[in-house]
Amino acid sequence: MSEHSGASPSSTLRTPEALIKHGLAEPETLSGLQALAEQFSIAIPPAFAALLKPRSPENSDSACNADPIGLQVLPDARELVTAPHERADPIGDDALSPVPGVVHRYEDRALLKPLLVCPLYCRFCFRREHVGPDGGLLDEAALERAFTWFETHPKVTEVILTGGDPLMLSPRRLKRIIRRLSGIPHIQTLRLHSRVPLAMPERLTEELLDALETEKAFWLVIHANHASELTPEVRQALRRVQARAIPVLSQSVLLKGVNDTVESLESLLRALVQARVKPYYLHHLDAAPGTAHFHVPVEQGRSLLRQLRGRVTGLAWPTYVLDIPGGAGKVPIGPDYLLAEEQTPQPPSGTCKATDGEQFRKRRVQATDGQEHSFT
Ligand code: SF4
Repeated sequence: MSEHSGASPSSTLRTPEALIKHGLAEPETLSGLQALAEQFSIAIPPAFAALLKPRSPENSDSACNADPIGLQVLPDARELVTAPHERADPIGDDALSPVPGVVHRYEDRALLKPLLVCPLYCRFCFRREHVGPDGGLLDEAALERAFTWFETHPKVTEVILTGGDPLMLSPRRLKRIIRRLSGIPHIQTLRLHSRVPLAMPERLTEELLDALETEKAFWLVIHANHASELTPEVRQALRRVQARAIPVLSQSVLLKGVNDTVESLESLLRALVQARVKPYYLHHLDAAPGTAHFHVPVEQGRSLLRQLRGRVTGLAWPTYVLDIPGGAGKVPIGPDYLLAEEQTPQPPSGTCKATDGEQFRKRRVQATDGQEHSFT
């Protein structure tokens, strides 16, 4: 067995050969990993490589077993198995794209995806069929078409910059995009979704932060799934962002083996709040191909949040959401404190069927286990 040396690589690991060289995969798995790499991109930046647990005889069968960081970034043969309910575009972005790079699902906001490059490639990513190091950089003409689309849609007041990861753009290009969007009178809010502050905190230079300057409301939403991702370097990078009067929120994905216990979820939420980050969304896993081994049942997710209520400050409380497969949008699926399991009124008071006479609208959706669930 090759050994994980414990020494961090100085650059991002992108190939099966590099993983083997650094003791993160067995030499005999090379051909399987090469087949996997052709389908789904690999990238493990030094900041994440440094967090990987050294391998031991107990987890030698799979490099990432029992390691919440390894599970997120190390390729795994299980990814080559696509369950019947898994889809290449699980949340239906493609059908809602009026021009390349734009996704318009809700009336008052739309996504702009200027590139599909990420600092690392999450093994559970809902856009895993699209993201990659060569992917999706909008050229100048495509960017102009996207800007024109925003200019001609006055009901859209918020732009969500996502991808890929917009903080992988050069400062010059990012500045141009933010300036251009900020110049559209009806755009009030810019929001940027990124994994860079955790995966490549050294990228948050003053020059990159200068590129984020705007008179419009600007929010950063980071993607973090485990408390150990909030290293001192990451917290310092976040302080540099916060010093610019940019509020920082987080989104996390509920993942088996990563954050699917009360203790691990509590540690994550507490670490975020300590870093002055408001937990925003806890996502139920989207049914992307080859991700079934990350699945946590909806009932377990609801139970975890129910156990955390009162145990952690309300500041740390995220909204547990599911993106309805097919593009119908997000629905909150967290525990309901207005109705008990037996459907009787529960304290504290609030709007519920028993007091306002309204019928709750039931939704039936197929979640990542392929089962149908009913939500109010
Ligand atoms: S950073 Fe986001 S878009 Fe990129 S691979 Fe991870 S989940 Fe997907």
